[in-house]
Amino acid sequence: MALTGVEIFKLLPKTNCKKCGFPTCLAFAMKLAQRQASLDLCPDVSDEARQKLGEASAPPVRPVVLGAGERAVKMGEETVLFRHDKRFVNPCIFALEIKDTLTEAEIKSKIEEVIDSEIDRVGQNLRIDAVALINDSADANRFESAASVIASSTYPIPVILCTTNPQAAESAVKMFADKKPIIHGMNSDNLEAMAAVAKTWKATLGISATGLEEIVHLTEKARSIGIEDMVIDSGARRAKEILENNTFIRRAAIKKNFKPLGYPVITFVQRDDSLEEALLASIGIAKYSSIIVLRSIEKWKNLALFTLRQNIYTDPQVPMQVEQKIYKIGEPTPVSPLFVTTNFSLTFFIVSGEIENSKVPGHLAVMDCEGLSVLTAWAAGKFTASKIAQFIKESGIENQIQHRELIIPGYVSILSGSIEDKLEGWKITVGPREANGIPAFLKSRAA
Ligand code: SF4
Repeated sequence: MALTGVEIFKLLPKTNCKKCGFPTCLAFAMKLAQRQASLDLCPDVSDEARQKLGEASAPPVRPVVLGAGERAVKMGEETVLFRHDKRFVNPCIFALEIKDTLTEAEIKSKIEEVIDSEIDRVGQNLRIDAVALINDSADANRFESAASVIASSTYPIPVILCTTNPQAAESAVKMFADKKPIIHGMNSDNLEAMAAVAKTWKATLGISATGLEEIVHLTEKARSIGIEDMVIDSGARRAKEILENNTFIRRAAIKKNFKPLGYPVITFVQRDDSLEEALLASIGIAKYSSIIVLRSIEKWKNLALFTLRQNIYTDPQVPMQVEQKIYKIGEPTPVSPLFVTTNFSLTFFIVSGEIENSKVPGHLAVMDCEGLSVLTAWAAGKFTASKIAQFIKESGIENQIQHRELIIPGYVSILSGSIEDKLEGWKITVGPREANGIPAFLKSRAA
C-alpha cells in the first residue's frame, strides 16, 4: 500500500538540509506521497529507508521503455484511474502488425508506411510508434528472416516480436540487442524458456494470457525468476472484454497497488474492417491500453486515433500552448505585417492558418499567456497593454522589420490607445475579432 506523507517523513533524515530542493524534509515527503518527486533527490536517505520508500513511491503501473534512441517510447508510470484526477502520463503506443508470411518487399513497404505516418498536429509530432512482427507462419526460420528485414532498416523502429516459440524468439531478438524490444508470447506452456530468452537479451517480456487470473500467475512466476519489465495481454479481443479487463487491471494496480497487474497493457485489435479496428483502438486509448496493435495504416484512421490519443494524454490542468516567439508565416519581408496574439495552441494554429490562407506573408508575435486564449488572457491580466508593449520591445522584432505597425486582435481593441502610449513610435491597428476575418482584412489593406 502507498505510504502517507507523514509515514514517509518518519523515514527521511529530518535534517531539513534542503539538498533535495525542498525547504524541509516534510515538504519533500508530501511531494513523494503525491508521486511528484523522486526519492533520488535526497542524497542522505539510509539504505533501509530507501528500500521501504522505493517500493512505496514506485508508480503503481511499472514504467517500461520500448526501443532505444530518439524513437524510444515509454509506457506505464500511471498513477490515476481518471484523467481529471491528475493526468495520464505516457501516451499509448500504436504498433503496426507485420506478419512473417509477407514477402521481403511487403515488409519493407509496411516499414515505409510507418515512416510516412508521421504528422504534425498542434505543434506535436505524432506517428505510428512501432511494429509488431507476428509469427503467423509458426515457422522459426521464417520469423527470423522477417525479423532480419526489419533489423536491416535504417529507420530505428521499436519492435515487438510476437511468438510463442522460444527458439524463434531467441533467433529474432538477437538482432535487436540493446534496442529494448518486447518478446511477446510468454504463456503457461513456455514460461521458463521465454523468460530465459528475455533475461538473456534484456528484452521486455510480453505475457500472453487467457484471462486475468492467468496474468497474475504468469507475472508472479516471471518475477520470481528475475524478470522485471513486462507488458500484459489478458487475451481480450472484443470491445466488451477489452473494456472490462483493462479497467479491472488499472483499478487493481491503482486502487489496491496490486503488483502482479501493475504493468502496461498490450491490446491486439487487428481487424480487416478498418472502421471496426479504429473503434476498438479508441476503446484502448480511452481505457488504459499502453500498446495497441493495428492491422493497417490509413491516413483517416491515423488522424482520428492520433487526435484522440493527444486529447486523452494532455494535462487537463494545463492548457496546450506553444512557445513564445516571433513566428514567420510564409516568407515575410521587413515590410510584412506584424500580428500579436497569445500562446494558446488553438489560437496560434487558427491565427497562423488564416494568415497563411490570406497568401500575405506575415510575422506573428506569440506572447506567453500561460496557454490562455485572447479574451481569457486579457481578463486574467496576462494580455495587457504594458505586457504586450514589453514583449514587443524585448522580442527583437524591431530589428527585423522596417515599419512600426502592430495588429492586435479585435477582441482587445480597447487596448489600442494604451499600447500606443507604451510603445513609442508605433501605430496600433485593430485587426478582426475572429481569425477567419484575417484574409479579408489583409486584402482590404492591399487594395
Ligand atoms: S535532502 Fe533529504 S534530508 Fe535534506 S531536506 Fe531533503 S529530504 Fe530532508
